[in-house]
Amino acid sequence: MILKNVFKNNEQWIKDKLAVDSNYFEDLGKGQNPELLFIGCSDSRVTAEELMGLGPGDAFVHRNIANMVVGTDANGMSVVNYAVTHLKVKHVVVCGHYACGGVKAAMQSADLGVLNGWLRNIRDVYRMHHDELNAIECEDKKYDRLVELNVQEQCVNLIKTAAVQKAYRDRGLKVHGWVFDVHTGKLIDLKVDFEKYLKDIMEIYHLD
Ligand SMILES: [Zn+2]
Repeated sequence: MILKNVFKNNEQWIKDKLAVDSNYFEDLGKGQNPELLFIGCSDSRVTAEELMGLGPGDAFVHRNIANMVVGTDANGMSVVNYAVTHLKVKHVVVCGHYACGGVKAAMQSADLGVLNGWLRNIRDVYRMHHDELNAIECEDKKYDRLVELNVQEQCVNLIKTAAVQKAYRDRGLKVHGWVFDVHTGKLIDLKVDFEKYLKDIMEIYHLD
């Protein structure tokens, strides 16, 4: 049982941190100034800070099933707004991962009860990219591609928000789409063309 060791581990962690820097927690207590908002999946295999080699204070983190950015989700929208407008992060990252159970569930026709509403957002991504996805014969490749397209569309959803548009114009905020490969541990930059999407969608979604 993992929980048995949690508090013992915590004591060791405190000792390790203080051994390197005796002011470590005193400094942490002063406040946060993260450069990065990380939006990832809740999947237990996908950590936020650890896979990037970051520590406490480095990233403002939001995680949900399949790393979604949904305009009607008050929780996610509050995180984006707070991180971008108040903490003034310089980068927003949407990080998906291969073998994502949420994406897999959205690919299957099944009534999953309360999850249906959330998965519908991923099914919408499938619908938008229906032609490309249906042209892929290999199911595994199709699954991987939907993971990537989902990240891309969540980046677009970020760009639709007034907070991101304003921060881009005022101080050059950047949005990034990444995928974590759970099979290899590798982090892949999808090189989402932020400028292009911004230009494309401004015509309709221009808010600020
Ligand atoms: Zn996932």
